[in-house]
Order: sequence, then structure tokens, then C-alpha cells
Amino acid sequence: MDKKKVIIIGGGITGLAAAYYLQKEAREKQLPIEVKLIEASGRLGGVISTEKRDGFIIERGPDSIIARKKSAMRLIEEVGLQDKIISNTAGKSYIYARGKLHTMPEGSFMGIPTKVTPFAVSGLFSPLGKLRAAGDFILPKSEPKTDQSLGVFFRRRLGDEVVENLIDPLLSGIYAGDIDELSLMALFPNFYEIEQKHRSLVIGLNKSMPKPPKTAAKKTGSKKGMFISLSTGLEELVQRVESRLEKGTVMKRTAVKKVEKTGEIYKVHFENGEVETADSVVITTDHFHALRMLSDYAFMEPFKHMPANSVANVAMAFPKSAIEKDIDGTGFLVSRNSDFRITACTWTHKKWPGTSPKDMALLRCYVGKPDDQEAVELSDDEIVELVLRDLNKTMNITAKPEFTIVTRWRKAMPQYTVGHLERIAIVKARLEQELPGICLAGGSFEGVGIPGCIDQAEAAVKKVIDYLE
Ligand code: FAD
Repeated sequence: MDKKKVIIIGGGITGLAAAYYLQKEAREKQLPIEVKLIEASGRLGGVISTEKRDGFIIERGPDSIIARKKSAMRLIEEVGLQDKIISNTAGKSYIYARGKLHTMPEGSFMGIPTKVTPFAVSGLFSPLGKLRAAGDFILPKSEPKTDQSLGVFFRRRLGDEVVENLIDPLLSGIYAGDIDELSLMALFPNFYEIEQKHRSLVIGLNKSMPKPPKTAAKKTGSKKGMFISLSTGLEELVQRVESRLEKGTVMKRTAVKKVEKTGEIYKVHFENGEVETADSVVITTDHFHALRMLSDYAFMEPFKHMPANSVANVAMAFPKSAIEKDIDGTGFLVSRNSDFRITACTWTHKKWPGTSPKDMALLRCYVGKPDDQEAVELSDDEIVELVLRDLNKTMNITAKPEFTIVTRWRKAMPQYTVGHLERIAIVKARLEQELPGICLAGGSFEGVGIPGCIDQAEAAVKKVIDYLE
């Protein structure tokens, strides 16, 4: 029987997971499907990239996977990496605001208080800011809305100070975006539901959050965090999935320029002028490239206006003795109102203890606030200098780093702005009508973060199989 051909474009975690699960399904169900994975660069993994140097394991891109979302764990187990799973140390973390570091108030969930006392005594907020936050207990719920910005929503419930000194730094760390632009319904629909059901976020969260299990962790005193990684670095997941793909699946250094429908068949045009045909295509690149590939189709227009932010991070290795004013914790975030240009700093040697030599410290700092995108384009030396200047406002580092690694990710943080879900739904519906057999999946579309991307890959595989059958 003639095989149906599926071309997957983009070899980041989404494309890799899609190729892996599609081949697995085809094998197990004996479906006549041939899979090709096309990647523009010379390596797979996209933004997942691990550097090993002088005994350090350094993540240039993502460094952690949220453990409670199961798709990443499933993929890790599929490829036999369960023995390498490590959990982060759930140490103290801090926020730099109002001129100094403050401990993150205990019981805050994404910056929303679930316990009153730690907030009431925290120096993060002024007395007036605390009073305003208490408004959450009495304010009525908002009128039902299809969408609104995270900023509008949280400012209304908890006031500006809680948003700017706590919620914004936490969310910026994940989305690298402006809280006043990002969509509540695309990113945290559960908070909207809590407000609609319980009115108060504080009361609602307390009622709806599962109580922490009385696990061994409490008894043994071990402090496991809510994230996982791999002891050998996250890129090992990429390599392991790649090694499980059938021979001849992957084409690297091949960029796709355009995808067009001719009858029942899709023509995939490469930048090098070659063309391959496919029965179905899964596009897993960022939205800018997807838009270009499907530029003949007007329904892709919303992606023209979808922003993405750039970020850079700097990993710096020091002997522990060089950090004179060390802090008991795993890192700090920076309030949006501070004069810092860095947005956060992770004490990687404390968060992921096995990834640095014993007597060494690895600090990882981030630049590229939404209103300071120029920072990403500074030279390596300038970025390191600005990072050290900011760090020394809190840490007193007496030596130069033994080495630094600066990584820039340009337009790599897609922004799900207000109305994102609606726009995606429209594009998907039109895609289904005009280009059935083409799927869009990946960080730009229905979930930033590694588990969200793997979820989309799994959904795309199901869709492709249904279509081909
Ligand atoms: P990508 O990784 O961007 O892969 C897309 C691939 O498509 C690339 O390999 C690219 O070369 C290829 N491509 C592009 N154009 C073409 C073309 N024309 N033809 C062929 N191939 C093409 N998530 C977490 O869960 N935890 C974290 O700690 C975390 N930290 C992050 C830190 C940073 C700095 C960044 C940038 C992201 C982070 N994320 C994190 C988000 C997460 O890493 C991404 O959402 C996810 O890895 C995106 O995967 P993807 O496959 O959708 O896209």
C-alpha cells in the first residue's frame, strides 16, 4: 500500500514530539504513514539548548519543566530518561522592590495571597498598598467579559502595588511580556473563573487549591520544588527523542519557504528551491515563519500583528568565595518599578545543586524587559557589565566571573495579548476549511512552555491520523 507522507516543519520540542508520537502510532497501529521532520538550523531542539563547560551544566534556554503538567513527564519516560529527572530545591526566593530584597510572602500563588499574615507583615508593599489589596475581600465580581488584560484584572482586584511588586515580576519571568497587554483568558482563565464563582481571589484560591499532600517531604525535611529538569541538561531530552526517530526522518539545514495546496496534495517549497509533496503538514515554527509559509492565505493575517519579545540571559561562574554577601535562597525577581535593568537572577547552583562543581556558584541573570528590548542588543561585555552593576546593588561580588555565557533569544517569547484565543480559534477554523490536513502547533499558538508544546504535538498527531484515515 502506498504510504501517506506527513511533513513536520520545525525541529523544536513541538516538532520532535509530533514526529516521535506519529511514528509510534503508525508502528503500533500499522498505519502506512511516512514522517519527515524538516529543520532550518543544523541542530534540533529549538530554544532548548544545554552547554557543558568546566563541570557545569548550563541551560541557555529553558531550565525547568513544571512537574504537574504530565505530557513532558510522559515524553521523558517514553525515551527512558526517568532516572535522570531532578527536582529543583524549593528554597527562599526574593523580590527586589522599594530599594531592597524582600522574601516572597509565604502562601503566594502566582503572586496572589492565600495567607493574609505574610502579606500583612511584608515590606514589599506600603500600608496603603496592603489596604488596597484587602479590597479583594469586599469588591464585587466584575461583569462577565470575553477577555481582558492580566493587568486590568489583577489591578482591579488587588491594586497596583501587588501587581507591580509581585504579580508582574512573577509573570514577566515566564512570559517576558507586559502584564497590561497579556490575555487573562489565554494564560490564566482559572483566575477569571475563581472571581466569577467566589468573587474574592484570595477566598476562592483558598477554597479551590488542593491542600498540599502530607508527603514524606515534610517528614524528611527535603524541600522538593514544583519543577523538574534532567541531571544531564534538558537538551538530553532532545537528543534522546531524535535518536528514537526512524532513520532518515530528519532533514536539518533545510528551511521551508512556502506551503501550498494543489488539489489534495500539499507542496512544501524549501529555500534551496527543492519541493517535496505531502498528504499532511504540521507547522511547528514560530508564528512569523508560519505566516510567511502560508502568506497566500489571508486568514493568517492575525499573526502579522502578534508580537514577540526578545530576551537575553547571562550565565556567570564564580568561586563561591567571591560572593561575599550571599543570600539564603534560589534567586530573586525584580519589581517593574525598580531602577534595575535585569529582570531576575537565579542562583542556579542552589536551585539545581548537581549542575555546578561543589565550590562554585553559577548565577543566571536575565535582561530584556518589554520596555527595554534594546538591552538584548548590547554587546556581550556591555550586558555582563550591566548585570554585574545590578547584582552588586544586592550581593557584593568581589571577583570577576571565571567565565560568562551570553545567550540572546530574539523574538522568541510570543505574546498572547488580549483576544489571543479568539484569534487562534478563527485561524484554526479557516485552516480546517481551506487547508485541511495542515496543523499549527507550538509555542506561538496554544501554550507557551515545554509541556504546553508537547500537548499541542500530541493533539496534532491525533488530528493528522484522523485526517489521513
Ligand atoms: P522552537 O523551540 O522555537 O522551535 C522551532 C524550530 O523551528 C526551531 O528549531 C527553528 O529553527 C525551526 N524553524 C523556524 N523556521 C523554520 C523554517 N522556515 N523551516 C524549518 N524550520 C524552521 N518553557 C518551560 O516550560 N520552562 C522554562 O524554563 C522555559 N524557559 C524559557 C526560556 C527562554 C529563554 C525561552 C526562549 C523559552 C522558555 N520556555 C520555557 C518556553 C519553551 O522553551 C518554548 O515554548 C518551547 O521550547 C518552544 O518550542 P517550539 O518547538 O514550539 O519552538
